[in-house]
Amino acid sequence: MSNTQDNQTKCPFLTTAEGAPIGRQQALTAGPRGPLLMQDTALLEQMQHFNRERIPERVVHAKGSGAYGTFTVTHDITKFTKASIFSKVGKKTECFLRFSTVAGERGAADAERDVRGFAVKFYTDEGNWDMVGNNTPVFFVRDPYKFQNFIHTQKRDPKTNLRGHDMQWDFWSQCPESLHQVTILFSDRGLPASYRHINGYGSHTYSFINAQGERVWCKFHFKCNQGIKNWMDDHAAKVIGDDRESHQRDLFNAIEKGEFPSWTLKVQIMTQAQADAWSAKTGWNPFDLTKVWPHADFPLHEVGKLELNRNPENYHAEVEQAAFKPSALVPGIGPSPDKMLQARLMSYADTHLHRVGVNHHQIPVNKPRCPVMHYMRDGQGATAETYGGAPNYWPNTRAGTPMPNEKFADPAWDLGQAVVDRFDSTENHDDFTQAGNLYRMFDDAHRDRLCSRIAGNLAQARKEIQMRQLCHFFRADEDYGRRIAAKLGINVDAAMQEFKPVHDSVRA
Ligand code: NDP
Repeated sequence: MSNTQDNQTKCPFLTTAEGAPIGRQQALTAGPRGPLLMQDTALLEQMQHFNRERIPERVVHAKGSGAYGTFTVTHDITKFTKASIFSKVGKKTECFLRFSTVAGERGAADAERDVRGFAVKFYTDEGNWDMVGNNTPVFFVRDPYKFQNFIHTQKRDPKTNLRGHDMQWDFWSQCPESLHQVTILFSDRGLPASYRHINGYGSHTYSFINAQGERVWCKFHFKCNQGIKNWMDDHAAKVIGDDRESHQRDLFNAIEKGEFPSWTLKVQIMTQAQADAWSAKTGWNPFDLTKVWPHADFPLHEVGKLELNRNPENYHAEVEQAAFKPSALVPGIGPSPDKMLQARLMSYADTHLHRVGVNHHQIPVNKPRCPVMHYMRDGQGATAETYGGAPNYWPNTRAGTPMPNEKFADPAWDLGQAVVDRFDSTENHDDFTQAGNLYRMFDDAHRDRLCSRIAGNLAQARKEIQMRQLCHFFRADEDYGRRIAAKLGINVDAAMQEFKPVHDSVRA
């Protein structure tokens, strides 16, 4: 029996929020034509609650769908990490996964061309581990100062209140580090058929720490077992015409029917020595969110299987209030120097304090399934369920007081002779090779679709922006640039001549 049915059986009467049975559900008025009486407090309560039904919309990833599931370890990776979730082959951990689109508001259609969020909360027996990723292995920017500005370009123009192609290409053309992700966004994978048919990537580099206190760098990949499935734009437009909730419907119905979607978790591992050697060889920063680690250099190690098998009972309580934060890390899994990750460690926790409240971790979907003991107290919505009447300060001398345990302490992190400065995130960076590698992976028809979509979109930006962005496509792959130029109706050879000096200096 579901919670709802159970509650309805236990409570056959309609009641107020305080539980008092209601005799009649009709307004209390002086005479049949009104006016209303202030003493109809049940009506006042209902109106007041209604006025407060919405919580602030997420600025990004506002539209989403979620489900519960189970993560099962299939391969031993204890030589890399002491994280309890991975401690034994066969170990099962409950989890909650929220998928989302990024740019659209809460009412936006699902079948839009956009990156998809892939955020997993693992309720491990040593705390919640939130892996807050996307369906792409990279991101548009590498310096957190650019993040809020980038998101503004994906939202609405302050004057027209319209989404703006000009502003997004204005931004991207001045931030060539975005080219890799832009290529993914306009490729076939930029418009998934459903949430069940996408991969998930941690995208950032994280750290693993093993029982010996050794640290390695790692990346998380969730490979979709249903196969990747995408839609062409014209098909998606038809779907949106019929059903704006196509991803939500697909996920919910599949789980209701017992068709449980699953993903295979794999990790890439890099030691510090490998990081130094790889950086020296390629010039790439292993902590740069706009780069992947090539599989040939850093193969995938299989870890386990994540299966979604239970729909939430109440969308608002469990999906809308789900609060994922990259700062929810557990012993054995830690951050890396990735500047974007470092910024997200603060930003996501902060947004939940604003959006869901200071006690968001006490809401059932966010609540750890393991014992919790700390000295943070009170605030709006506090339940005191975990601490009751226990002292509210530490250290204290009460019997049985939980104590810190040295075995959970992270090893020291040697940063060498780090210099504090505001480093330019665009200088001396190769933003083109990996975007070009991706382009060269596509077959001819896929290249053509990619270039048509980009040209159709870029054509709506100012000419100077088109020209600046066109240079980036040429730098990634000459064919990439030529095709888009042709579709934009731009004379390639004249454009090449105009931008050759920049082109050559970047290649050099
Ligand atoms: P590999 O050939 O070893 O890996 C290619 C990867 O690309 C696979 O993970 C594959 O994922 C993925 N892929 C296949 N088709 C597409 C597609 N149409 N759109 C996006 N991704 C696709 O090469 P490298 O590791 O050297 O990477 C080459 C390029 O592949 C990168 O520049 C990057 O853009 C992209 N890529 C790389 C990933 C990585 O972690 N190295 C991860 C994802 C993409 P699948 O197995 O699901 O088909």
